[in-house]
Amino acid sequence: MQHTGPDKISPAMRRLVRPAAWKIALLAGFVTQLLLLIFVTAIGLQQLEVATDKLNQVVDIHMRKQILTTTMVVNARERIIVILTLPKISDPVERDNLLNQFSDNGSAFATARQALLKMPLSTREQGLLTRQGQLTGIAQPIQLQVIDLISADFTAAAEELILTKAIPMQNEVVSALSQLDAEAQKVAREASGKAREDHLRARQWMFLLSGTALFIGFFVAVFVFLYASRVDRERERLSTEDPLTGLPNRMLFMDRLEQSLMRAERHQTLVGVMFIDLDRFKRVNDTLGHASGDKLICEVAKRLRATIRAEDIVARLGGDEFVVVVGDVTAIKHILQVVEKMLAAVEAPYQIAGRELFSSCSIGISVFPHDGDDSGDLLKHADTAMYHAKSSGRNRFQLYDPAMNAMAEERLQLETDLHYALERNELFLHYQPQVNLNTGRLHAVEALVRWSHPQKGLLSPAVFLEMLEETGQIVSVGRKLLETACHQTAGWHAAGYTHLEIAVNVSSKEFWHEGLIPGVQNALAQSGLPPHALQLELTEGIFMENMDAAVKRVHELKALGISVSVDDFGTGFSSLAHLKRFPIDVLKIDRYFVKDVQHDPVNVALIRSILSLSQDLKLENVAEGIETQEQLACLHKLGCKIVQGYFISRPVPAEQLTTLLDHDWLPAFSPAQHAHPKLTVI
Ligand code: C2E
Ligand code: CA
Ligand code: CA
Repeated sequence: MQHTGPDKISPAMRRLVRPAAWKIALLAGFVTQLLLLIFVTAIGLQQLEVATDKLNQVVDIHMRKQILTTTMVVNARERIIVILTLPKISDPVERDNLLNQFSDNGSAFATARQALLKMPLSTREQGLLTRQGQLTGIAQPIQLQVIDLISADFTAAAEELILTKAIPMQNEVVSALSQLDAEAQKVAREASGKAREDHLRARQWMFLLSGTALFIGFFVAVFVFLYASRVDRERERLSTEDPLTGLPNRMLFMDRLEQSLMRAERHQTLVGVMFIDLDRFKRVNDTLGHASGDKLICEVAKRLRATIRAEDIVARLGGDEFVVVVGDVTAIKHILQVVEKMLAAVEAPYQIAGRELFSSCSIGISVFPHDGDDSGDLLKHADTAMYHAKSSGRNRFQLYDPAMNAMAEERLQLETDLHYALERNELFLHYQPQVNLNTGRLHAVEALVRWSHPQKGLLSPAVFLEMLEETGQIVSVGRKLLETACHQTAGWHAAGYTHLEIAVNVSSKEFWHEGLIPGVQNALAQSGLPPHALQLELTEGIFMENMDAAVKRVHELKALGISVSVDDFGTGFSSLAHLKRFPIDVLKIDRYFVKDVQHDPVNVALIRSILSLSQDLKLENVAEGIETQEQLACLHKLGCKIVQGYFISRPVPAEQLTTLLDHDWLPAFSPAQHAHPKLTVI
């Protein structure tokens, strides 16, 4: 199973992981709000303090002024009473007491007045106080005159003076003081009004600023809420959606599959689970790049989606693996109809990065309830079936069969064994002769890998080659086999068979590996085999992967002095027209054309045209897979010079091949040996 390489981060995910401007804005909002609240509290407190101070001051001054004014008024009035009482008192002691009181009243009056003068006074207050001073200045001598008259016992005159002058004068003093009191009250009222205004302003500020803070707070809260729900939604979407194709991912898929199964159980219907894997997707990724690979995946996703009903499910499990669920069907044939549609849809050509591309897929199918009744089993079984579809030739579907599980286990075991096989040197080469029909002599041998499995015996590459390729082990294995083949052939050369050539198979992975050229150089140098005796067999597929790069590489190989052949020619997707671009020496005609050569005129025509083309291009050719004398005669007649196949010899171990080196095959080719002398060669 192949994957698209390192997972990419989707733009959505990138948005989430970026230290978002959102977060900075949020933080700024919070900080502003906090600062505002601190500011509001500080200003409010300060304003309140100022207002309260002012109010206190006003109250304090007013109270003191009032007390002082009242003290003055009281003492002034008491003096009036003393003056009025004095004429009526004859007892000298009592009179002295009264006079003392008079004098005390005067001192208290003067002290209060002095204190008042030290207080902050308005101009009007000052004016009134001055006026009171002047009036007192007039009233005081009159009062002293009265006292003098009383002391001299001129009571009547004193009373006269009291009534006509002293009392009215003192009343005027009191009146001036009353005005002063009224004025002080007015000033106090004004000051307290002002203090109250300040208070009010402070309150307004507080309201305004806390309102603003609340407003910002509200917005911050709304932002936090919206942002959090946005992040939540995005997280949810990302956790259920494949970022590349937008299809449900495995998690959402499993959930929906389970729902489908529950519905099918209720309605007694079938559910088809199809596991889809693109064929040779890795080749697209490796040759055209990951961006093209991603485009192909997206296009396949779109096409799969288009082949099914809205209520069915398509999901991408990762890499080039998709899964489709078709629910509520009553017969397997309905599932297979969908499968056929999907195969056709994926097979249609793609336009990617300005070039036409072909792809195909292998589909494994499990059906509920036959192949399992829970989502996990169904998926696993569909996967197993897909694997079988793949190994039986790709671009096909396969229904699950319980026997497959055992096969999957066997394969796993084989993979483990293969790992140890490399350590224990269980891989080695067989050699199959290629005979020259003109001489009847062995012309070359093809080296073919074998595995001597401790339990299973001799295994052919069909069983394990793909595993070696999948794991990449083929590169190191191939290098070792090449060394062995060169070494062995050098040995045969040393024994006198200097004309013998060796053909070694090179798979795509080995071909593109950077160690290929040094590997070949090393094998030749170590073995001492002349380069012209070595031939590398490449498949057409290698050229088709990347024609320009392949041609360049083959030139590099040929610069070492070795020759190159195209194996299995005619089976790949290259046409004969491409052939002239391949810088090769030998063309190996695939055994598929050889198989029916004596019965199938089309194959004969094909071989003929391949042969004449290779003649034009000055290429050698080898016919593979000759199993019968008829085939051999037929190919000989068509002009084939070099042949290979079971009829001549199966691939054999090196020591057995040594005995064939001197063998003359000509008698075996003679027409007298023909089982069917009548050849249908056209
Ligand atoms: P191939 O290169 O086409 O090799 C020829 C295959 O045809 C061999 O199968 C050979 O045993 C078989 N064969 C030869 N004559 C006949 C015949 O008359 N009739 C039939 N039916 N088959 C015949 P084998 O050895 O199983 O190898 C299979 C494939 O594995 C090879 O196909 C080649 O592509 C690959 N392979 C084998 N050895 C190596 C190796 O060392 N390295 C790499 N990279 N690939 C290898
Ligand atoms: Ca071959
Ligand atoms: Ca071949």
